[in-house]
Amino acid sequence: FDIGKPLGRGKFGNVYLAREKNSKYIVALKVLFKSQLQKAGVEHQLRREIEIQSHLRHTNILRLYGYFYDSTRVYLILEFAAKGELYKELQKVQKFNEERASNYIKQITEALRYCHTKHVIHRDIKPENLLVGIKGDVKIADFGWSVHAPTSRRTTLCGTLDYLPPEMVEGRDHDATVDIWSLGVLTYEFLVGSPPFEAKGHSETYRRIAKVDLKFPSYVSAEARDLISKLLVKEPKNRIKLDDVLKHPWIARFSQ
Ligand code: ATP
Ligand code: MG
Repeated sequence: FDIGKPLGRGKFGNVYLAREKNSKYIVALKVLFKSQLQKAGVEHQLRREIEIQSHLRHTNILRLYGYFYDSTRVYLILEFAAKGELYKELQKVQKFNEERASNYIKQITEALRYCHTKHVIHRDIKPENLLVGIKGDVKIADFGWSVHAPTSRRTTLCGTLDYLPPEMVEGRDHDATVDIWSLGVLTYEFLVGSPPFEAKGHSETYRRIAKVDLKFPSYVSAEARDLISKLLVKEPKNRIKLDDVLKHPWIARFSQ
């Protein structure tokens, strides 16, 4: 590879624009330091991420073409997402209009539907893990928390609670419907600019998630509220199905 400009900085190393010498194919090369992966104890998570992401083929899922390593680093060869992080764009404009939000949610729903047919649960759907391609299409990235369903394993929680469903904050078993909950949180954040159960501390966020304490600002349309209320349902089996999300008026209305 010829290495180009840095695209961003990650927890375990940096990401560079790169071009494969023979084919001139442009990719993003993610460089991870083995020492840092070991220190954080996430080698198994990286193996799973590689295993899962390299087998998925969908326009709205970031491709992982392959990997290689040397004595100190692991390199991931990733599809290059020319327009970068969606969450930066959201920060810039504060909130998306309903047409744009609907369009993104449709693409993410299609990607999740594909994952779930392969029994893959992403478990970490949030704006920071979404990249944007050259045509403005969303790409789900970061399969570091993904698993093959079904899973009964309790997961150690770290970072923000905002996107976690009641069954995960309460440490119960969970299945693919955790991604449906996160899709509801994401839809809300796209339209409002902040996640629905945001609170000062972890325990207050936890409480708001557990009782599904959902409130909408007045500008959110009735159709958007209807869909979000069907995604953010406490009982996992009563959440709307991904096929029905695609048929929902708030999704169908904006797609030609
Ligand atoms: P963190 O968890 O802190 O976000 P990370 O280890 O998950 O770090 P990434 O988020 O994957 O690292 O990468 C760091 C940054 O590099 C991203 O925020 C993004 O700006 C950029 N980047 C990563 N992958 C790509 C890609 N395929 N195309 C374009 N830019 C990318
Ligand atoms: Mg990241």
